[in-house]
Amino acid sequence: MTLLDGKQTSKEIKEEIKTTVSEMKARGERVPHLAAVLVGDDGASLTYVGSKVRSCEYVGFDSTLIRLEADISESTLLKQIDQLNRDDTLDGYIVQLPLPKHINEEKILLAIDPNKDVDGFHPANFGRMALELDAFIPATPFGIMQLLERYKVPTSGKHCVVVGRSHIVGRPISILMSQKGTAGNATVTVAHSRTENLADLTRQADIIVMALGIPEYLTADMVKEGVVIIDVGITRVADQSHPKGYVIRGDVAFDEVAEKASFITPVPGGVGPMTIAMLLKNTLLARQWNLT
Ligand code: NDP
Repeated sequence: MTLLDGKQTSKEIKEEIKTTVSEMKARGERVPHLAAVLVGDDGASLTYVGSKVRSCEYVGFDSTLIRLEADISESTLLKQIDQLNRDDTLDGYIVQLPLPKHINEEKILLAIDPNKDVDGFHPANFGRMALELDAFIPATPFGIMQLLERYKVPTSGKHCVVVGRSHIVGRPISILMSQKGTAGNATVTVAHSRTENLADLTRQADIIVMALGIPEYLTADMVKEGVVIIDVGITRVADQSHPKGYVIRGDVAFDEVAEKASFITPVPGGVGPMTIAMLLKNTLLARQWNLT
């Protein structure tokens, strides 16, 4: 069994980006610049945004954190988005989700200039991705494709079952894995909460991508020998024996499934760390494509 080590792979990707940025600097070029918009002071969002900003600093990007009050009106936030769209010193930006309930997330995401949409959530990017054109691919599925590619996991002609059909993980990864190219050419089945007899499907799968958010849902009796497992799930499970009072669990019962798997991502340390690395990669691409 080979562990698909997202921690190590994301480090390698960050080092590659860092090298490219130093070369840009040496040529006297402007380095990539990422901004993050954080509305309110939700603890988890603060942590995520904080590590995104730190990663920018690590690879040599310029970064800007824009913190806005939780009670900001939708129209003021839209004005802020408009300013960011017009800012020529900025290659890309993200609006950290979730937004407070009084703000329509869809409206905000649609207002982001697709050329700066390094999260890849705008329909223009989603459409370009589906048509195999240059696009910002959402960071989590982009990270999964990188793991499969870099570990040379065979995907061509394989049956991949994706469990989950969200717009940020399940749906895009199902499209990417069915496309031509490295880590693609798979025959993909997308399962969701209405799927009947899920275990019959997962038992036939050569590759399983779990993206539903129910801890340890996939058990050993649901998979065949040699299966490749990608576990996207991240759920905090209460555990008083742990100093934090919780532990992080994936959607896969890791210990028992790992015994049958040929490749498997751990949680934490698998898909999670890849997500930030791919956000940086998208920002670098934004700079290189000179879209701003
Ligand atoms: P969503 O809640 O948006 O989607 C969950 C999907 O799972 C839905 O399509 C839902 O079906 C499906 N589902 C729910 N219950 C079942 C079931 N019993 N059987 C089969 N399918 C089911 O989640 P996300 O895609 O946003 O996230 C999934 C998980 O991945 C979460 O734990 C999240 O925290 C984690 N995540 C991790 C990231 C990382 O960086 N590693 C990044 C993003 C997410 P239906 O459509 O019918 O409701």
